Amino acid sequence: MRKKRSSQSRLKKDVLEQSLCTGCGACVGLCPYQMVYKDRTVQLFDCDLPDGRCRAFCPRTPSDLPLLRESLFDALDATDEIGPVKEFWIARAKDAGLRARSQHGGTVTALLRLAMSEGWIDAAIVSGRLSEREPEGRLIDDAGALADYARSRFWAAPTVAAFHRAPEGEGRRIGVVATPCQALALAKIRTAKIDGYDKGKTLSLVIGLFCGWTLALEPFQNLLETYQLSAANLTGMDIPAGKNILELHTAEGPVNVPMAEVDACVREACRYCVDSTAEFADLSVGAARYGRNSGEMQNWNQVIVRSETGKKLVSLARSRGILEFRETPQEALHELKNAAAEKKKKALARIIAKSRSPQNLLYLNPGDTVVKKYLKT
Ligand SMILES: Cc1cc2nc3c(=O)[nH]c(=O)nc-3n(C[C@H](O)[C@H](O)[C@H](O)COP(=O)(O)OP(=O)(O)OC[C@H]3O[C@@H](n4cnc5c(N)ncnc54)[C@H](O)[C@@H]3O)c2cc1C
Ligand code: SF4
Ligand code: SF4
Repeated sequence: MRKKRSSQSRLKKDVLEQSLCTGCGACVGLCPYQMVYKDRTVQLFDCDLPDGRCRAFCPRTPSDLPLLRESLFDALDATDEIGPVKEFWIARAKDAGLRARSQHGGTVTALLRLAMSEGWIDAAIVSGRLSEREPEGRLIDDAGALADYARSRFWAAPTVAAFHRAPEGEGRRIGVVATPCQALALAKIRTAKIDGYDKGKTLSLVIGLFCGWTLALEPFQNLLETYQLSAANLTGMDIPAGKNILELHTAEGPVNVPMAEVDACVREACRYCVDSTAEFADLSVGAARYGRNSGEMQNWNQVIVRSETGKKLVSLARSRGILEFRETPQEALHELKNAAAEKKKKALARIIAKSRSPQNLLYLNPGDTVVKKYLKT
């Protein structure tokens, strides 16, 4: 009988060599054989396990998405464009000091702080600080330290690896901030039925981030050099609404990089991504950009509540005065859905161009009704 190929070699052939790896870290930290170097996933030694967790948790191996949706969410909340929507809010942290240290409205950090101070989670996994040379996930168990890790780094941080490495203790509960691909990996971990593995149960909260793309570190560092900058000089980065630039914040002031130059640094795996709102998180947070008032909305977030856990946390944040809310216009949700549908269509077209067959959608299932919808249009 022919020997079954190892999970690691299948991961290499189907994900790494196909440039589909998002750098999420879900295959790292489980064994000594795989690691992350800068933002790249590398295989140090060969492993011959046929049913390894590395492949099982990877968001770029085939997943039963309908089953994941059914296991984690209420079917009545389903939308095709942005996944389950229980509630949709425009919100921000009430704490102006926190807002000043955050990317947009500080909603993510405010909710994490609340979850930790209420004992809903014992620790949170966030991405390392901007100034740190290597992108990494950080396990933080002091609510007061979370604001140090706020703001966005537009490169892949292998935060799921930090979840695997987090010590396990009796009844320990962990929250994770995750991009959409990471949220999918975490959903696979949460629902995994693997003998001897039950760490997924410690995942008590996943706060998703909206995500358009990440930048591949090496070309981005080369681009920074042309502006006499390095990643260590950056104090922040943002994409201001309607300006078609990436704004780099430095101690000497902002440096604007035209989006055409930035586009050349986008990680290839992101071009095949169909999720812009972290559809598998408990709740998802992004910039509040809609209509003509996007400048005024710079310090606010759009928040999609997806699960009961997400709903309870946002409701507690409201009653405790941790978050403030403003009128939530229908146009915001409408624009978000349209943008998300466009991302799905473009990614599916690129996937077909890569595989050369509408029957082969690489990591997606052509039978999934959501996928089918965006294949047709
Ligand atoms: C790569 C990337 C692309 C994004 N693209 C979009 C987009 O197209 N549209 C949009 O509306 N919003 C996008 N966002 C989300 C947006 O930048 C903000 O994170 C979001 O609006 C929450 O704002 P906040 O003020 O509540 O976050 P904060 O309170 O500042 O908290 C941000 C949290 O994100 C974590 N984080 C930072 N960088 C990363 C990373 N690379 N990987 C994982 N976690 C990270 C931090 O550790 C912190 O916990 C993107 C974020 C990232 C990281
Ligand atoms: S996408 Fe994530 S899990 Fe898959 S190979 Fe890359 S780092 Fe590993
Ligand atoms: S665009 Fe998709 S694949 Fe790329 S980092 Fe964001 S969620 Fe992951």
